[in-house]
Parts: sequence; structure tokens; C-alpha cells
Amino acid sequence: MPQVVSVSELTETVARIFVRHGVHPDNAAAVAATVAAAERDGSTSHGLLRLPGYVASLQSGWVDGRAVPVVAEAAPGLIATDAANGFAQPALHASGPLLRDKARGQGIAALAIRDSHHFAALWPDIEPFAAEGFIALTMVNGRRRMAVWDGKQKILGTNPMAFACPRVGRPPLVWDQASSVIAQGEVLLAAERGLAIPQGAGLDAEGKPTIDPRAVLDGGSLVPFGSHKGSSIALMIEILAGALTGGCFSFEDRSAAYPGAQTPKAGQLVILIDPARVPGNRYFERIESLFAAIAESGVERLPAERRYGHRERALRDGIKLSDRNWATLQRLLA
Ligand code: NDP
Repeated sequence: MPQVVSVSELTETVARIFVRHGVHPDNAAAVAATVAAAERDGSTSHGLLRLPGYVASLQSGWVDGRAVPVVAEAAPGLIATDAANGFAQPALHASGPLLRDKARGQGIAALAIRDSHHFAALWPDIEPFAAEGFIALTMVNGRRRMAVWDGKQKILGTNPMAFACPRVGRPPLVWDQASSVIAQGEVLLAAERGLAIPQGAGLDAEGKPTIDPRAVLDGGSLVPFGSHKGSSIALMIEILAGALTGGCFSFEDRSAAYPGAQTPKAGQLVILIDPARVPGNRYFERIESLFAAIAESGVERLPAERRYGHRERALRDGIKLSDRNWATLQRLLA
């Protein structure tokens, strides 16, 4: 395999790796698309870097690569999908057509996914809905890694949330962010390189502030962004993605019983709204006036524009794999 690959070559290669490690081809295609999209868009923390973690979780028996999601119509505006201990992306894929129909028909619909393993960025889940004209929101809880503000021990996941909204003649506006000051991956990288983490990002096992990444990894916790405000958002996500869906809370994580497991078994909520259904809102015109005012205020870019730039270059020139990623692909294909 060359070290510069097209997006489709990378997607096929990653899918082949998943299949080789026991994942059903349909599920493999859904997860591989997310991994390759992250690499294409420069979301490298959630692209190929995560592939060994997916495979380790599969090998540990913690996640079922052959799971068949069960989609149930729970109420006129609500779908409840059991991911059956599989990856989240196949569950979303299986639920997508019904979710779209309901949101189109009623103006709004929600999808509650439980017992799903989400190990990726969230924007690939909702950007396509926004490209079809929906306002979309999603949130995922995970493994316990983060303290509640003022708490001393980890209780919450780094619970990410993403928002996407459609525009006319342009790709959607999308943002996608974790609830922690820094991601767990950054702590791992800092520990590996012997570097400190930023002030205010971590606590040690006694709940005291630390800049030592090893202290965070050794029984410590991450800190929510924006003090009590980020903490409340993460708490809401825990309730909506963990309790509402019928999935696990982050603090209930049982992955330690499966050595090697890295993916979180938790839940996900997706909400779609059709902005065209509110009479007289002039939504499309008005959001452009908002973005114009933001640009005039001196802001140079909106969220997602960095990714779109990466995407354009990757689709034109291919994706240049780092030596590390190339070696990972070779090893996992072997
Ligand atoms: P970042 O802080 O890197 O970025 C958050 C958002 O802010 C992005 O949408 C980004 O857009 C936008 N942004 C960044 N800088 C600017 C700027 N100067 N102006 C405007 N917008 C800006 O993200 P996080 O580190 O918080 O999260 C990274 C990823 O980790 C997310 O994709 C998240 O879903 C994922 N994650 C997944 C978890 C899981 O369990 N599956 C757990 C935790 C995190 P842009 O992309 O264009 O830079």
C-alpha cells in the first residue's frame, strides 16, 4: 500500500482490517467510513490513531463486531435502538431512514441508542443530516474519566456533543467538542513524551490539581471545560445519552473485566429538527446574516471550516499517511 492513499482506498483498507478482526462487513463499512472521514478531515485524534483501540476491544470480547442493531419505534417522534453491544455507527445507520422520515413528517424526531460503543468523532454522525436540510444535535457518554466540578474523583465521561445546521449553497456549520478541558488522548500523548498537561486540566488521585499526566492516568481525573458550566453540560449528556436511552452511565463502566478493551459501552442521543417547518422563520436567510455579522466582527472562521479545508485537499491530493499510521495499517492487515 502506498503512503499516499485516496479516501476510498483508505476506507476500504480500514473496512478490510475490521472484517479481518471479526466484524460483519456491513458494520465494518459503517465504522471504517467514520475512521477514514476523520483522517480525511484532519480530525487525526479520532482517525487511524484509534484503530488499534478498536481492534483491541474486539479481541478482548468487550464489543460485538457482528451485533445486529434492533430499531424500535417508541413513540411518534422517538426511536429507541438497541445497538446490542456493537459499534454505534451501524446502529445509527440502521435507524437513519426512520429518523429522517419522522423528522420530515413531524418537524422533529429523536433517536435514543443504547449499549453502543462510540470511539469516534461525532461530526460524521450528524453532518450528513444537516447536508439534507436538518438541524441536528447529538451527544454521547462514555467511560468515566472526568470529575464533576468541585468533585475529587472521576464520575463522568469526557462526554462530547455536536451540533450541525444546514446552509444554502454551502456545507453545514458544524461544531463537535468534548466536555473536558483536554481529551484523554492528549494526556496519553503528554505522558508518552514526558510533557506536562495544561494547568486546570487534570486532578490527581486525591482530587488535587496536577499538571503531571501520569497522575491523571494513575487514578486521577480530567476536569470539565468552563468549570461548573461545562460540568453541567456533561451531566446533561450523561442523563440524556446514559439514562434516557437505557444505556450505561460512564461511572458504571465494566470494561476493566476485558483486558485490552478501549471502547466505551454507553449511549447516544440524536435529535433532528426540520427548520423549514417553522412558518415565517426565514431560517436560511437569517443564519447567513448572523454569519456575516460574525465575520464583520473580525472572526476569521466558523467551526468546521478547518475540516472542510483538509477535506478539499485530501479529496484532491489524497491522504498522506504518517509512518506510524502506515505501520499500523500493515500490522493490522497482516
Ligand atoms: P476541539 O477543541 O479541537 O474543537 C472543538 C470544536 O471547535 C470543533 O468543532 C472545531 O472546529 C471548533 N473550533 C476549534 N477552534 C476554533 C476556532 N478558532 N474558531 C471556530 N471554531 C473552532 O475538540 P475537542 O478536543 O473538544 O474534541 C475533539 C474530538 O473528540 C471531537 O470530534 C469529539 O467528538 C471527540 N470525542 C469523542 C469522544 C467519544 O467518546 N466518542 C469522547 C470525547 C471526544 P474544527 O474541526 O473546524 O477545528
